[in-house]
Amino acid sequence: EKLGLNEIRKRFRDFYVSKGHYPGKSASLIPKNDKSLLIINSGMAPLKNYFSGVETPPKKRMTTCQKCIRTDDIENVGVTSRHGTFFEMMGNFSFGDYFKKESLTWGWEFITKVLEIPEEKVWATVYLDDQEAVDIWKSLGMPEERIVHLGKEDNFWEIGLGPCGPCSEIYFDRGPEYGCGKPDCKPGCDCDRYIEFWNHVFTQFSREEDGSYSNLEHPNIDTGMGLERIACIMQDVQSIFDIDTIRHILNGVVALTDKEYESGDAGADKSIRIITDHMRSMVFLIADGVLPSNEGRGYVLRRMIRRAYRHGKLLGIQGSFLAGLVDYVVDVSGEAYPEIREREDYIKKIISVEEARFEETLEQGTEIINSYVSDMEKKGEKVLPGADAFKLYDTFGFPVELTQEILDDHGMSVDMDGFHENMEEQKRLAKEGRKDTTAEAWKESSAPKDLADTVFTGYDTLHDTSEVLA
Ligand code: ATP
Ligand code: MG
Ligand code: MG
Ligand code: MG
Repeated sequence: EKLGLNEIRKRFRDFYVSKGHYPGKSASLIPKNDKSLLIINSGMAPLKNYFSGVETPPKKRMTTCQKCIRTDDIENVGVTSRHGTFFEMMGNFSFGDYFKKESLTWGWEFITKVLEIPEEKVWATVYLDDQEAVDIWKSLGMPEERIVHLGKEDNFWEIGLGPCGPCSEIYFDRGPEYGCGKPDCKPGCDCDRYIEFWNHVFTQFSREEDGSYSNLEHPNIDTGMGLERIACIMQDVQSIFDIDTIRHILNGVVALTDKEYESGDAGADKSIRIITDHMRSMVFLIADGVLPSNEGRGYVLRRMIRRAYRHGKLLGIQGSFLAGLVDYVVDVSGEAYPEIREREDYIKKIISVEEARFEETLEQGTEIINSYVSDMEKKGEKVLPGADAFKLYDTFGFPVELTQEILDDHGMSVDMDGFHENMEEQKRLAKEGRKDTTAEAWKESSAPKDLADTVFTGYDTLHDTSEVLA
């Protein structure tokens, strides 16, 4: 019997409660009092004030399972076996309490004793010169050969000035059949053999104005384990789309088509996965109060709905269909997240309205894009001028990413620099003669710019809006 995703979530929580952690609830996807982040993208993001000391946590040890969305992974969705825009991140946190030794020791205990993953399939990565982490791993029985040293890009967490530190990421070896076959294939390689499932961040330094690092008096622990990824490992399936919960939604998508999943049409399979993933994001975003719009979070939602809808058309699905898929998401996640069950009817309504609106847009927009395309073909051109893409966006609300995708299908592209120039120019005109307070600037940070510049990279970089708006 395979371990279900909902059971793994429970085991994680019980385990860390047994180690003295306060079990917190998932926060909303909408950050509270945090202008630096558009949507919650990691377990630690809603706990920032506990780490900085601005607020007092209920306990110095905490564990959560946090709903997350990372739009910067959108291009990976349906392509890699391990990325969704929506996913759940489980974590254990220490606010100036325990540190590296406990975090790795308990992590190891959870992996090998609770989940009973064979030790020899687990690998660890550590930051270049983090000998302390190496020593702990060795004391736990990890042989030197399975400890990989990675540089700053992978294994050091830092956001501008302030608290930062090295990480240790934990990988599972899925076996050579998933591998690229290169002799130096190991964790950090792009292929599917070694799958990263847990990141332990050791916040022990503070980066100072002069670029130096000082030691924090009370170092913190922040870890994040992708629930879908560990389920993928435990259920021994090819991708996160094959785990019990997500597969249920995927089957619902497939039932709307006259196709079978994974029967040789790679394009169709990808579209099926994209719709499946985007369903999750849209259901959770709407449940947390986001409405489709042309800016900020609303645009993220609009883009998910419209992209999923378009992939439905590519699959030959007739008419509106997304609202009907909400049930499948609620089936598998409604118990852990009652808000989606409570707001089920409302969620369906919002999706239906947006679908209907997009149907019109899509007709008009596609007609126009097709005329652009045939014009370009006649002239032997390959790049659509930014002004034309902007007109589509501005007049019809046609997402520029969609314009890019459609042109891509024809082996063409969009002049994105030109697009952004047009956008800037419009914003400049709009701002002239209006007082530009920070709050206003936030509201008006326009959608495509958000998506292009707001890099939701969780542990790596927490994007600061002030940069975008400067
Ligand atoms: P990757 O390198 O695979 O993109 P990451 O290093 O960006 O992952 P972290 O920021 O370290 O991920 O997040 C902690 C954990 O969250 C990861 O180890 C992984 O298990 C999970 N995770 C991150 N991004 C995603 C995603 N897009 N979909 C599902 N799980 C994810
Ligand atoms: Mg990584
Ligand atoms: Mg990572
Ligand atoms: Mg990533």
